Amino acid sequence: MGLTEITDRIAKAAQDADRDPADITLIAVSKVQPNERVEAVLNEGHRSFGENRVQEAAGKWPAFRERFEGIDLHLIGPLQTNKARQAFELFDVIHTLDRPKLAKTFARLAQETGHCPPLFIQVNTGEEPQKAGIAPDDTDAFVEDCRALELPIQGLMCIPPIDETPSLHFALLRKLADRNGLSQLSMGMSDDFEQAIAFGATHIRVGSALFGARVTNAQST
Ligand SMILES: *Cc1c(COP(=O)(O)O)cnc(C)c1O
Repeated sequence: MGLTEITDRIAKAAQDADRDPADITLIAVSKVQPNERVEAVLNEGHRSFGENRVQEAAGKWPAFRERFEGIDLHLIGPLQTNKARQAFELFDVIHTLDRPKLAKTFARLAQETGHCPPLFIQVNTGEEPQKAGIAPDDTDAFVEDCRALELPIQGLMCIPPIDETPSLHFALLRKLADRNGLSQLSMGMSDDFEQAIAFGATHIRVGSALFGARVTNAQST
């Protein structure tokens, strides 16, 4: 579809919602995409990208960072505790803080390295057993625990169930964020980012609509 068209759609959705498009970050989800496609978007001047695997990101982003300045790399996939250190080195923002053990690991790494990337807590809004994330009912307590650990929690993230109306999940995430004093919302993908913007998304994660269909789905969500 192309960057210009996505940017136009973001601007239109923001306008419809009486919001400033500058408050919405487009994360170009580059997982599994060929490097030529990623490079084309970099050449158009875009700088925020998302990857869902540490290993894959480690294989492609250090080289891009050498050639393009100002890249902001977002981790949007599940993180194994033993890869947390590497994730701290590679990513500028982590959207998938999804369990107490990972919070403790982040706190320890932050102490040790003197640095912690901004974090989003992933909420399992659909309470799907196979999906990562904090249950909605446990979110308030988890935010409090993360704050006690002095983690830089910026907001909440969700991936709505595939077969449900996403807006119900966007509304729930918004409500949970508001009541915890969190201003950032990572929600909305290729098929529903305009709705997410209507519900207050500050970070939308768009892959296939921007880059075209993923060449293999082996590493999709
Ligand atoms: C792959 C992925 C996306 C992008 O999905 P598209 O439907 O291709 O836009 C967004 N968020 C997460 C967490 C993903 O894994």
